[in-house]
Amino acid sequence: MKVAIYQGPHQPFSIEEKPTPSPREDELLIKVGRCGICGTDMSTYTGAAGMETGVVYGHEFAGEVVALGSEVHEFAIGQHVTAQCVTACGRCEECRRGHLVFCPEWRQHASGGFGQFMTIPAREAYRLPPSLTLEDGALVEPLAVGLHGVRLSGLGPSSQIVVLGAGAIGLSVVFWARRRGVERIVVVATSNRRKKIALEMGASDFILAADDLERAIERSLGGPPEIVFECAGNPGAMMRSMGLVVPKGIVVGMGYGLHPEEITTALPLFKEIRIQFSMTYDREDYEEVIATLAAGHLEPRCMVTDTVPLEGLTGAIESLLAGAPHCKVMVDPWA
Ligand SMILES: [Zn+2]
Ligand SMILES: [Zn+2]
Repeated sequence: MKVAIYQGPHQPFSIEEKPTPSPREDELLIKVGRCGICGTDMSTYTGAAGMETGVVYGHEFAGEVVALGSEVHEFAIGQHVTAQCVTACGRCEECRRGHLVFCPEWRQHASGGFGQFMTIPAREAYRLPPSLTLEDGALVEPLAVGLHGVRLSGLGPSSQIVVLGAGAIGLSVVFWARRRGVERIVVVATSNRRKKIALEMGASDFILAADDLERAIERSLGGPPEIVFECAGNPGAMMRSMGLVVPKGIVVGMGYGLHPEEITTALPLFKEIRIQFSMTYDREDYEEVIATLAAGHLEPRCMVTDTVPLEGLTGAIESLLAGAPHCKVMVDPWA
């Protein structure tokens, strides 16, 4: 099978031929149909995430079952499936809840979605209904990240919220807030690149980050937001979120910042702010995402702006880093 292997910071992924894995007794072999490029893949590429070299990454994948381990009876050849970004022990409390990154034994998939085939434990696979495409399946992971943060925030239809950052996670937060009946959703971003997509996902307003941000938000919402979703992860974003939120409000931390962040604690103290971080998703999130897409709520399709072959992975990441007007770029390992 053809795979794209990470070679180190700013090195092109090497496209190599590797033996197609065989599923163990409790595993499925899937033929990867699509795998989304994530912000974390960009941090892997630049070296900021300090990831191991020689590995096939890609964790936003969906594919078709092409072989079953001897003990797998609940899946059939030809079914479309997706799974979480990591694999885990399958026995502990977090595995039962399906919050796999909290399993003490979690690990990367042996080979990820930036390749033509991969194996996953059948217990961790989620079936996709025939009405959904494999591209929809590859959106389940980033949508589940957004849903988890929205669930942890406890927002309700009357909440007024601000989402800092218009990447896939911020846009996914917008989608879920809207699905839960929130009408006043302001997205704040540093450029207008994603404005159209943000409005299509359900934002009521889109504001460029500027000096008079507080006033612009108050004009849009009629007051400060009760909840700020920090989905930018850039320096200063946490302090900015705490500055924007209403006293006794909630800041949900979802940005993947790899820098030290300076915080003056008097600010959240005087406002008695609750800070809630959100890490990946659990089984409930995955099931709700799939059920929602299956019910025909397909607005998230507008996030996909390009599809590239494995050979295009390096170029796609470089152009995203350079600020290309793309949102979610998909890899088709068979293109
Ligand atoms: Zn991701
Ligand atoms: Zn476990």
